[in-house]
Amino acid sequence: MTKIVVFPKEDLLVAAKIGMDRGYNRSMKSEAELKKFSTELEEMEAVNLAVSFSMVHEHIACVKVEPYIRAVIQTDGKGSNITLDVDMELFNGLPVYNTDTGDFEVAGRVIPGVRNSTNEKVAEARAITANPTGCAYWNKPEEIPSNGLIEVSELIERFDDTSHLMHALIKCRECGQLYYYEYYDEIDFEDGDDPVYMTYIPVDTDEEIERLKAMSRSELMSVVPRLHFDIPKGADAPLVRWVA
Ligand SMILES: [Zn+2]
Repeated sequence: MTKIVVFPKEDLLVAAKIGMDRGYNRSMKSEAELKKFSTELEEMEAVNLAVSFSMVHEHIACVKVEPYIRAVIQTDGKGSNITLDVDMELFNGLPVYNTDTGDFEVAGRVIPGVRNSTNEKVAEARAITANPTGCAYWNKPEEIPSNGLIEVSELIERFDDTSHLMHALIKCRECGQLYYYEYYDEIDFEDGDDPVYMTYIPVDTDEEIERLKAMSRSELMSVVPRLHFDIPKGADAPLVRWVA
């Protein structure tokens, strides 16, 4: 039996963005390079890219840091690949494909799969809630104000709040849609320009909220639909996008 970690393309882009912000050795070095990578990914036919090799690293430019994963990712079926340094939690939350059964495992849940219909099954495994089509920001994320959806929302309940990580339930003031909200920032010791990552997951029931509350950061990053509202270090404008 062989189990293969796969990188859904949207997660690969998130990993590349985090890697760039952190200055990992194997990462994009500029917004332009990241944009080029994003375009290349869009043009690829595959939805999930197989990881052919990975190992733990603990140094950036010889300085010991939180462990991260150096991964070699296949970009086509012909042997082309890229090497990328990836956040460890994000990597550990990636789907795992079982070549014998054709099943996917996502964050500990086994989803019965069918060979060659991998993309659909990953989508099924990840979809927790319905698309928030009633919210104006579903179709027009570019109209979200500069501080994110939180700016036009009411705080319903705060679940946890440490200095750099917060989870809460918020409600869009315009349409009443509930969102599970994660705020995460990293300390930028050099310039004090902390990168901020905000994630909004639409929820409709208490059960959905409970499921999300039990998830780790990386597990949340595999839930769709979700809205990313990120302000990377040195960014002129936030990076806003739906993953669905
Ligand atoms: Zn709304």
